[in-house]
Amino acid sequence: MTALPFDDRDGTIWLDGRFVPWREARLHVLSHGLHYGGAVFEGVRVYGGRMFKSLEHAERLLSSARELNYSLPHSADELDAAAREVVRREGIVDGYVRPVAWRGSEQISVSGAGSTPHVAIAAWDWPHVFSADAARAGIRLRTSKWRRPDPATAPVRAKAASLYNICTLARDEAEAAGYDDALLLDLRGGLAEATGANLFLVIDGALHTPTPDSFLDGITRQTVIALAADLGIEVVERRIEPGELDRAEEVFLTGTAYEVQPVSGVDERTYRVGKVTAELAAAYARLVRSAS
Ligand code: PMP
Repeated sequence: MTALPFDDRDGTIWLDGRFVPWREARLHVLSHGLHYGGAVFEGVRVYGGRMFKSLEHAERLLSSARELNYSLPHSADELDAAAREVVRREGIVDGYVRPVAWRGSEQISVSGAGSTPHVAIAAWDWPHVFSADAARAGIRLRTSKWRRPDPATAPVRAKAASLYNICTLARDEAEAAGYDDALLLDLRGGLAEATGANLFLVIDGALHTPTPDSFLDGITRQTVIALAADLGIEVVERRIEPGELDRAEEVFLTGTAYEVQPVSGVDERTYRVGKVTAELAAAYARLVRSAS
């Protein structure tokens, strides 16, 4: 829980090409994006004053907006430069950058035609997703009754705000039951992901991860798959049944915010933080601090 509300802080936010005082970075209550859930967003980590994979995140913001049928009036390079300047002005060393885009207020019918897209970029010091103990020893997941949507019913390739309703419901439900996070299945009942991170199982020493056909193919997921290849660890991307959690030796999650996060339990099952997870977590920690 953060001490300061996010709308009442000192600092500067980039809004539609201008740097504005933090408290003045506002949108109108009659914004299309607010009423119909058309916002798209990103989360980028800052390590030692440098953003990790900033350009990839800027490109994903642009493609998320395109998936929702609008285009942003900035290039990926411009968004990257703006984010760098926000980080510099805020003096962020280890932190988080949140770009967000939405349709404006020209009209408030369901049709999005004619609405002007807006973009904002804010950054703040890194607050950690889980407690330091949980991050080290592993977090506990509870399988949710909520599932990732059918790609025919939702823009599943976009990092779209509307897809997070299910994540918030699932996360709140898991926390109320004493767990750290929720594990969501896909439409057909296969394993999918957590509420803000992708899923990996270690089975017979190899990495198994669900095919991202109804959820985000995370930038961290792709990074960890490449690191595993470098380390000579076999990676299998496939449909995975929930029952296969019974024979997993290790389980972990990946995400910009979660990094490589060990899982110590799923429902009644327990796991230790094993060798493969530790090796990949260490490789990821080295990479984020060596690359920009
Ligand atoms: N799935 C969901 C639902 C997420 O919110 C995230 C975090 N963006 C991820 C997966 C992982 O994506 P990334 O590694 O690009 O942060």
